[in-house]
Amino acid sequence: MLACKTECSNHTFTAVLKSCANLSALGIGKTVHCHVIVCGYGLDLFVQAALVSFYTKCNELGAARQVFDEMPERSLVAWNAMISGYEQNGLAEEAIGLFNCMREAGMEFDSVTMVTVLAACSQLGDLGLGRWVHEYINVNGLRVNTTIGTSLINMYGRCGDVIKAREVFDSLNQQNVITWTAMISTYGMHGYGNEAMKIFHLMKHGPPPNSVTFIAVLSACAHAGLVSEGQLAYASMIQNYQIAPRIEHHVSMVDMLGRAGLLNEAYQHIQSMNDIKPNAAVWTAMLGACKMHKNVTLGVIAAENLLAIEPHHPGHFVLISNVYAMAGQMDRVEMVRNVMIEKGLKKQVGYSTIEVDNKTYMFSMADVSHPETDTIYKYLDELMERCREVGYTPAFESVMHEVEDEERAHALRYHSEKLALAFGLLKTREGSVIRIVKNLRVCEDCHVAIKFISVVTRRKIIVRDKLRFHHFEDGSCSCLDYW
Ligand code: ZN
Ligand code: ZN
Repeated sequence: MLACKTECSNHTFTAVLKSCANLSALGIGKTVHCHVIVCGYGLDLFVQAALVSFYTKCNELGAARQVFDEMPERSLVAWNAMISGYEQNGLAEEAIGLFNCMREAGMEFDSVTMVTVLAACSQLGDLGLGRWVHEYINVNGLRVNTTIGTSLINMYGRCGDVIKAREVFDSLNQQNVITWTAMISTYGMHGYGNEAMKIFHLMKHGPPPNSVTFIAVLSACAHAGLVSEGQLAYASMIQNYQIAPRIEHHVSMVDMLGRAGLLNEAYQHIQSMNDIKPNAAVWTAMLGACKMHKNVTLGVIAAENLLAIEPHHPGHFVLISNVYAMAGQMDRVEMVRNVMIEKGLKKQVGYSTIEVDNKTYMFSMADVSHPETDTIYKYLDELMERCREVGYTPAFESVMHEVEDEERAHALRYHSEKLALAFGLLKTREGSVIRIVKNLRVCEDCHVAIKFISVVTRRKIIVRDKLRFHHFEDGSCSCLDYW
């Protein structure tokens, strides 16, 4: 068309931009953007919406936002591409921020907006906004189809409200395989393995399970220590459903066997993976199990395989150094640490968030940025004293090798989840449930400490870490210390 000097219309540009978006062809798309401006379509609403969606699909969120901000009028489509662009790139906070602007601008939303915002709430653990969206759907009599229903289940599940997730599941007229899988995975994440298996068995009357369903089932079994159930499901997947195991299934199997202390079986499973090469996730599961059950021989094998695959991952070094420390091989711990320093590897920074009165507060380790820092630390110290009186002793060992020496004692005491918890206890009414989201795994000491805190404060405390949920109540945790 350009060669023939045929004039382009806004339809031409939206169609070409859509193609560029589907191909993630950033270079060509930028050239098209130039043509758009030259041809005088720079302020055409449809073309602008197409540009926003093109840039977000190419992960160019800055450029997308620039086009979006320049739009004299913003269509629903433009608001949606942009919000979902943030959400899909893991920027849930930005997605929610923009959604709030949309609400302030008095825009109506559609099911695409809802699904995106619910996904952002799931990422952040923002139960307040998630509930608001659900309420909005109810009040406005919007139809809850399977897609929205599944998003609601995921949102409630990921925000820690399993009962509500189940309520939504039961209320749906139609459930497809994704809905069933979402419910199984919700129960699994929370450590309710038996409930997960009940849903899986009920599925006999529903759609046939797919490969993802079995990942959810196996991971539920792994988290709840249901080894024989998991083995049966794995065999049935291959024999009855002709689904070939993917790497994710192998990871869950190794995790399940390993957590249950069947380390040799887990190692045999890895060796039996004929046509698939074990990846880092498989060896991480193996190494984690070796650490949990203090098996140094297999731990070292797993560690060496892991390092061969991903030699630059700081998390692996921490795990490996823990295995050596467990074996008392302190010279090797030192060696691993020196390699880390040499390579300039830093551990990922841990942080925890907590929602109080519809506002989310973030804490990092030994954080002093909160205006009420003094009160929070003072309260936390008192709290830990009360815990000590009823039998708590700090699990120093677990973090000894995870942080720099001078930080050890201090850091252990002021891990982000403890700070968030202290703040939450101070700011919420007696008896209410506390919900915390942590970006990394909960450490052993915090896990023990929170069990005691649930006793001395008589509170139910729910912590979502990188992999799963912990429901602390009356001194025990729903994970049964498998995590
Ligand atoms: Zn901790
Ligand atoms: Zn737990």
